[in-house]
Amino acid sequence: MDAPQLTVTLPDGKAMNFARGATGADVAAAIGPGLAKAALAVEVDGKVWDLFRPFEGDARIRIITRKDPEALELIRHDAAHILAMAVQSLYPGTQVTIGPTIEDGFYYDFARDTPFTPDDLAKIEARMHEIVKQDVPTRREVWPRDVAIAHFQDMGETYKAELIRAIPEGEDVSIYYHGDWHDLCRGPHFTSTGRIGDAFKLTKIAGAYWRGDAKNAQLQRIYGTAWRDEKELAAYLHRLEEAEKRDHRKLGRELELFTFSPDVGAGLPLWMPNGMVIRQELEFLALQEERKDGYRRVATPHITKEALYYRSRHLPYYKEGMYSPFDIDGENYYLRPMNCPHHHLIYLATRHSYRELPLRIAEYGQDYRYEASGGLSGLMRVRGFCMNDAHIYCRYDQAKEEFIRVMHLHARYYDLMDIKEYYMRLSLPDLDKLDKYVDEPQKWLDALSIIRAAMTESGYPFVEATGEAAFYGPKIDFMIRSAIGTEYTISTNQLDFLATQTFGLTYIGEDGGEHPVYVIHRAPLGTHERFTAFLIEHYAGAFPTWLAPIQVRIIPISDKVADYAHQVKEALFATPVVNGTAGLRVDIDTTSERMQKKIRDAQLQKIPYMLVIGEREAAEGKVAVRLRSGKDLGAMPLDAFIARIKQEAETRHDFAEDAKG
Ligand SMILES: [Zn+2]
Ligand SMILES: [Zn+2]
Repeated sequence: MDAPQLTVTLPDGKAMNFARGATGADVAAAIGPGLAKAALAVEVDGKVWDLFRPFEGDARIRIITRKDPEALELIRHDAAHILAMAVQSLYPGTQVTIGPTIEDGFYYDFARDTPFTPDDLAKIEARMHEIVKQDVPTRREVWPRDVAIAHFQDMGETYKAELIRAIPEGEDVSIYYHGDWHDLCRGPHFTSTGRIGDAFKLTKIAGAYWRGDAKNAQLQRIYGTAWRDEKELAAYLHRLEEAEKRDHRKLGRELELFTFSPDVGAGLPLWMPNGMVIRQELEFLALQEERKDGYRRVATPHITKEALYYRSRHLPYYKEGMYSPFDIDGENYYLRPMNCPHHHLIYLATRHSYRELPLRIAEYGQDYRYEASGGLSGLMRVRGFCMNDAHIYCRYDQAKEEFIRVMHLHARYYDLMDIKEYYMRLSLPDLDKLDKYVDEPQKWLDALSIIRAAMTESGYPFVEATGEAAFYGPKIDFMIRSAIGTEYTISTNQLDFLATQTFGLTYIGEDGGEHPVYVIHRAPLGTHERFTAFLIEHYAGAFPTWLAPIQVRIIPISDKVADYAHQVKEALFATPVVNGTAGLRVDIDTTSERMQKKIRDAQLQKIPYMLVIGEREAAEGKVAVRLRSGKDLGAMPLDAFIARIKQEAETRHDFAEDAKG
C-alpha cells in the first residue's frame, strides 16, 4: 500500500509529491542542497510558516531565503526571542512580556525591579551571540488556552498568562521552544537559533508601560537591530550615527537654542537667545505670507473660564488633554489647549455681512496640553507650545477656494525650506457610521466633498485614511518625515461646520437672513516647538543665512586690527534686512585662541560666514570670507560682502556653493 501523499506546487508551477507530514525543509532539501542551506522559512498558501512545520495537505509553497523581503522581519523576530532567552538566563526572575519587530529592528519589554545598565546591555548581547553559536533547535507546540495560562502562571510569568487570558476561550495557542526556553508566539521561527547570524546589536534601554498605559506597571524595554549580514548592519549603524548628529535635542544643546529645567517642569522649553531668533524669523515669515493672503492679527489670553470650554465642547470631551483648573475669584479657569474658542469670540464681537467674508484672523497662540511624561521628547512633544494658528470664517461657496489658498500657503513654505519628504493625508470617518460622529451626516459629507475638490483642484497628491477624522469635520494632515526617520503630523487643515452650532457663528446674507459660517482651522508652520525641532534636523543645525542665529562671525587675527574689526561689525549690524526681523546678526571672536581654533569654533556653531581680518584686510577695507563648509571665498571688499549676505537674508535663499551641512 502506498503511503499517503501530498502535493506541493512551487512558484514556477512545478508540482512535487511528498509523504504526509512533509515540511518546508523537506521540499528545500528535495530541490537541492544549496536551497536546503539557504532556506529560512516557507510560505504556505500565502502564510509564512516554520520550515519544520508539517504541511496539512496539498499547498502552494515558496521557500523563503535571506534574499527575500520577508527575511528581515523573520530575523528580527528570532532575534527578539534570543534577546529574551539571554535576559532570562542572565537575570533569573525577570519576566517577559511582549517582543515585537519594529522598523529596523525589534524590542522586548521585561518586568524586572533592577534597572538594566549599559554594561548589562553588553553582557546580554554577548550572551545572544553565544545562543546563536549554540544553534539551539526550535520546535512548535500547540496547547489548549487554559493549559497555557496555568503553565505560565506556574512559571511566575504573570504577564504572559494575562496575554493568553485575552485570547478567546476554547482556542489553542502556539508555543515556541528554543531548547527548554519557550514563549507564547504566533511564529514563525527559524529551525534553530543559529540561523539569524551575528549581524545584530542591542541599541538602547528605555522605560515602557505594560500595555502602553502609564497607570500600569513600568517595564524595561531593550531595543535591538538585526540585519541579513554585517554589511547591512554596518550601513544601518552609520545611518543611525548620522541621524544622531542631527538629533534636535543634541543640536539644540550644542547650538544653545533651547533648554529645559527641572525647576520649570518637563515638556516646558526655555527658548535661549539663539533659538528665539529662529522663532522670530519664522513668525515674521508667517506675518508676511499671511498678510499677502489677507489675514489680520489678533492676540488673546492664555487662560479662560471653564464655561467657554463647555461651550466649545473641549469639556468634557478633551478633558484629558487639559490641565486641572485653578481658582480666580471663586471661578474655575483653565490654561487653554487651543485658540479656536477665543477667535470665535472675536468673530462674534461684531456683525458680519456676506460682503466682508472671508474673515481671516491669525495669532501665534500659546497653548498648554497634557502629554504623558513618557511621550515627551525635546521640542517635538511638549506640554506648552506656540501655534502658527489662524481661523478663516467663510461662506459655504468660498470654502473650497479658501482651502486651496491654505494649501498654496503650505507649498510656499515648503518650497522655501526645501521640504520634500511629506505627504498629505485626508482623514475620513467610517462613512457607514457617520451618524455616530455628528448629528448631521449630510453636512459632514458636504464638507468632505469641498476638501476633496480642493485637493484635486490644487493638484497636491494625498492619501485617504479612514477612522482618523475629528468629529467636527474632515481634515488634511501634513505628514512629514524628519531626518531622524520619524514621521509625524506637522500641521493640519480642518474644515469645521460645527462651530456654527456650538458658537452660533453666522453672517447676514444678501437676503438679510442669518447663514452658517464655515470655519477653516489651519497652522501651516505647526507649532514653533515642533517646527523648529524639525528644521534643526532638516538642516542638521546649519541653518540658511536668513534663519541662522548668528550669521557672521568676525575673527580678528591680532589686536592691531581690533578697531577695523569693530568697524566691520558696526557696518554689518547697521545693515537693514528687508525681509528680516532686524539687521544682520554678527559677533566678534575676541578670545585669545589660535585662529584655527576660532575658525573651528565658528564651524561647530554652524555660523554661515566667518570674516577673517588681518592687517592687509584692514589696510584695504576688505574681509577674508570663509564658509562654515570650510570653503574659502578669499578677500573681498566689505561692501561686496554686505551686498552678498544682505541678498541671501532678504531672498531667504543662500548661494549654491554654501552646501548644507
Ligand atoms: Zn515570537
Ligand atoms: Zn482652531
